[in-house]
Amino acid sequence: MATKFIGAHVSAAGGVENAPVNASKIGATAFALFTKNQRQWKAKPLTDENIEKFKSNCKEYGFSPRHILPHDSYLINLGHPEKAGIEKSRDAFLDEMQRCEQLGLELLNFHPGSYLKKISEDDCLKRVAESVNIALDKTNGVTAVLENTAGQGTNVGYKFEHLARIIELVDDKSRVGVCIDTCHGWAGGYDFLSDDGYENSWNAFDDIVGFKYLRGIHLNDAKKDVGSKVDRHASLGEGYMEKKTFSRMMKDKRFDDVPIILETPNPDIWADEIEWLKKEAGK
Ligand SMILES: [Zn+2]
Ligand SMILES: [Zn+2]
Repeated sequence: MATKFIGAHVSAAGGVENAPVNASKIGATAFALFTKNQRQWKAKPLTDENIEKFKSNCKEYGFSPRHILPHDSYLINLGHPEKAGIEKSRDAFLDEMQRCEQLGLELLNFHPGSYLKKISEDDCLKRVAESVNIALDKTNGVTAVLENTAGQGTNVGYKFEHLARIIELVDDKSRVGVCIDTCHGWAGGYDFLSDDGYENSWNAFDDIVGFKYLRGIHLNDAKKDVGSKVDRHASLGEGYMEKKTFSRMMKDKRFDDVPIILETPNPDIWADEIEWLKKEAGK
């Protein structure tokens, strides 16, 4: 039995139902997708046909909702300091959660938010938690999955403590989780490369957040050095983290049974990257 579920953030062009087909073509056993155009606020509702085909394609190609990690729009800022901005974001986030519900999906991955130099980081984290509470109240069965960030600009979420703080303030702990992006963690100052760094970083994650909240991994190498706070993904082995970091993760049981998603910059080699990761995982 496979214990590692590996894929990439694949295209849903032409309809969400195409994402599982595209994932299967590259040998994936997990995938990520946008359920709407990620650069626009509004989207057409999903049709019954989209929904039925998405579900039947997932079944046909063997993808379980547990290993599918939809990502929300980049425009949404759930920690927005201003009334108009946060209301717009909360409405759009609810729509994203409802699209996941319709598709029978269990997870929605998002970047916590940005304080825009108008409020403190902690006030921003509180607003994010309140936004999550509102969305969870109005939906069923979908877990809000916070992603750690590189700490670019005024983004919060670059420390494990930020993720823990949001979780602390979310009422329904059974429907909040985290996705760790290795490039973002590295940019945020976590050394995943050296032997000691790897152990210390993941043990810190376990102490501060807890592996029980882990719902996904974004597996990316980094073009900038550790602590740069710059979000530039590299293909595996072409950045600072080297192939050994990813090989080690494939042998680490703590990453079993969560979607492990490539957001590396060259889709032409995703099939090769997935094949290599599967081999490192020992299957
Ligand atoms: Zn990511
Ligand atoms: Zn990134």
